Amino acid sequence: MSSDQIDGSAAEPFRFESEVAPGETRHLRYEVSETYLGDPVKIPVTVVNGEGSGPTVCMTAAIHGDELNGVKVLQEVADRYDPAEIHGTLVLIHVANVPGYLAQQRDIPIYDQDLNRSFPGKPKSNTAERMANVIYERFVAPSDYGLDFHTSTRNRTTMYHVRADMTNPEVNRISRAFGANLILSGEADPGSLRAVATTSGTPTITIEMGKAHRFQQPLIDRALAGTESVLAELDVLPGEAVDWPGWRRIIDSANDKTWLRSDEGGLVDLLYDHPLVYHGDPVCRVSDHFSTEETIVRAPFTGLLVGVLQNPVAAPGHPVAHLVSVGGETLAEIEREIESGEFSERPWA
Ligand SMILES: [Zn+2]
Repeated sequence: MSSDQIDGSAAEPFRFESEVAPGETRHLRYEVSETYLGDPVKIPVTVVNGEGSGPTVCMTAAIHGDELNGVKVLQEVADRYDPAEIHGTLVLIHVANVPGYLAQQRDIPIYDQDLNRSFPGKPKSNTAERMANVIYERFVAPSDYGLDFHTSTRNRTTMYHVRADMTNPEVNRISRAFGANLILSGEADPGSLRAVATTSGTPTITIEMGKAHRFQQPLIDRALAGTESVLAELDVLPGEAVDWPGWRRIIDSANDKTWLRSDEGGLVDLLYDHPLVYHGDPVCRVSDHFSTEETIVRAPFTGLLVGVLQNPVAAPGHPVAHLVSVGGETLAEIEREIESGEFSERPWA
């Protein structure tokens, strides 16, 4: 199918709500900015408008330009669903931060602006806020729900999890339907798509999955299943939300998570072989280049290593691992899952 070229700065802006007919899928290239050469910067967007009426679900990937797993998720979602079987509308922003994507870096290369701290943006502001404003006004604000796909920042990796403000009932509903084992609850950073959309009437969750610069198919497959489950929960698709997971941990207190940091500069050897570590377990060794001095960083409580560094050098204060607590029945469930062999040994690999 060919794609339409749309000028987002036109006097009469394109509105997918009225211009993509029920039963129609359209692939758009939507102008959000210009390059130094004055050429348009266009984001690829797919709108799948179902034949039946229902909510509009906006999905975004590569707001950070080097976080690619979600790009693959949205390519598949755009191809997978026939508008004849859908009640509602899917708005898929395949690549939100096109300049960062072209450079394969997190931020917009122009003055290194973070698009995900620039929402809702303004028309008469810096480059990132202008781009954010077009994306927000045209696609996010008219939507009823949002799924925003991220990965860890480069040189780290993250266990598959959801970030969401679980005090918002609709956010809570789609977070549970998405089916990740781990949900980190809380308000998002000011200016992030999740924070602005959620407080402005488009309940939105962030999915964190794996590492930058890669397609990690096991994580992509889980995210596709999670997306389908959310669409079933919202009655966009027939069927039921999947009754997941074997265990679930919702972290809603800052006391239940911490970054483990190196106190010395040196070389880092990760010592764990599993994301579950017990109180006092060695997590990593930091040594000097002569192997004359070394210190061990230990887990201050029993929990899961949700994020770990990939670039194995550290300066004092350098975060080496992100630990979230688990205890009680959840710990017992995870231990049972590990014993049964069903727990992914390196879910952030
Ligand atoms: Zn990100």
